[in-house]
Amino acid sequence: MSDPASSESVSSRSPASSAQRIPIVNVSASGKIHVREQKGVFQKIRQHTNTLLIAIFFLIPFINFNGRQATLFDVTEQQFFFFNTTLWPQDFTVLAWVFMAAAFALFFVTVYFGRIWCGFLCPQTAWTAMFMWIEAKVEGNHHHRTALDKAPLSVSKVSKRVSKHSAWAVMALITGCGFMAYFMPARSLYIDIFSFSSGFWTGVWVWFFALCTYLNAGWMREMMCLHCCPYSRFQAVMFDSNTKTVSYDAARGENRGPRKRNKRQETQTSDNKPAGLGDCVDCHLCVDVCPTGIDIRNGLQYECINCGACVDACNQTMEKFGYLPNLISFTSENALEKNQKPSIWSTKAIGYASALAIMLLMIVMDLQSKTDIELNVIRDRQSLYRIVSNEPNQVIENTYLLKIRNKTQQASFYKISVGVDTMSTYEFEIQTDKLVLIKAAEQLEYPVTVSSSVKPITVGGSSTKQVPTTSYDAVTFIVTEVNSAGEIASSQTLNQVAQESRFFRP
Ligand code: SF4
Ligand code: SF4
Repeated sequence: MSDPASSESVSSRSPASSAQRIPIVNVSASGKIHVREQKGVFQKIRQHTNTLLIAIFFLIPFINFNGRQATLFDVTEQQFFFFNTTLWPQDFTVLAWVFMAAAFALFFVTVYFGRIWCGFLCPQTAWTAMFMWIEAKVEGNHHHRTALDKAPLSVSKVSKRVSKHSAWAVMALITGCGFMAYFMPARSLYIDIFSFSSGFWTGVWVWFFALCTYLNAGWMREMMCLHCCPYSRFQAVMFDSNTKTVSYDAARGENRGPRKRNKRQETQTSDNKPAGLGDCVDCHLCVDVCPTGIDIRNGLQYECINCGACVDACNQTMEKFGYLPNLISFTSENALEKNQKPSIWSTKAIGYASALAIMLLMIVMDLQSKTDIELNVIRDRQSLYRIVSNEPNQVIENTYLLKIRNKTQQASFYKISVGVDTMSTYEFEIQTDKLVLIKAAEQLEYPVTVSSSVKPITVGGSSTKQVPTTSYDAVTFIVTEVNSAGEIASSQTLNQVAQESRFFRP
């Protein structure tokens, strides 16, 4: 629980000033915060968004598409499946753009809404809230939990502690499975883990993430936000005077001080208070409900995750005393000090929006340039060429290894052909089946031999074209997706890839 003494000392040393004071960090000296349960508009929004996000996190791996898991990072096969799109390592630039777009979207939102991510969307906040909910169910409210901490060792205390940690451990293990379900088939993973029949490395990773979850959400909680999260440190650079943050209206609240509660006023007004006092009744609720243990009345602090619990708590107090709400509220510096309506279009916001638009454009361009076939031609390194058969039908052969990758999620037929430079004076022939079947998301290593006449093509005893000066020709391998008859169906879009190599001759 937050140290009341420390808050009292803050209030007693606080001058009767209407100006915002210099921020003072007020984290509980005991180190353990038993957050008071709070109801209210923002807590309802937070609970709903957290529940929704946690549900989405667990359910996504169970969505199937075309008979397979729709979202899967297949580490062993080095492929990322997302519905009908398969990304191979070469396509991972798209993922890089996606992460950058997400970062700029976050920065853009932060300029106007402050740390909305921290308070309402961050997994650390969501899982911590879930673990605190379990704790409250097992050990009771914050008064009970504080009393239990101080109570001597007893059967009741041990059984409550064991129950809480067991429930946390199960939740952590489910979370570990939920995370790993993005990397391996989800349906069998949960069964394997809970029946202790998983493979060694699968088990290691699940238990590792379970341990991280248990420590983060059960023990570290706000310490992650205060000491480990880089975002809490650099987010202030995105703020400007239009940014909405949880703020205390010092001009209205000071001088703070306790007072008797009058009967509920018919008309709410801030005038029904003792002379010399502001609207803050110094009830300390805003500190008791704060998950990071700070006193927002000290001004903007990096520890504030903008969860809105103190807003709900203070509004509850204001209502009880018949005062106007929003002594603590989500508001901007401009609104608080100059009574100005905040504008979303600040220079920073425009900058982040432009960067976000560029990232989105890059994603679209990358996806459009993504091919469904990939071809890699590797020349036989053992010999440059082979001369086969005797005169007069002597031919030269070059051997290649074609690595053809079917990046789609269906098995497909491919036709292999070879093209030559139009200036070449030789005839070429590819010696292969020319039609191959490659399974979905698989790579085929396919050796092919290309043969060519030894002598240039001649008409009436003379070469039809200029005799080349080089001892090789440029040859182009072309792989085209076709139907089983080896034709391109009229309804089919041309799916073709080509790569150039060299054909050597004596
Ligand atoms: S000061 Fe208020 S908004 Fe900030 S973390 Fe504490 S309770 Fe949440
Ligand atoms: S909850 Fe409101 S009234 Fe109570 S101490 Fe905090 S700011 Fe003052």
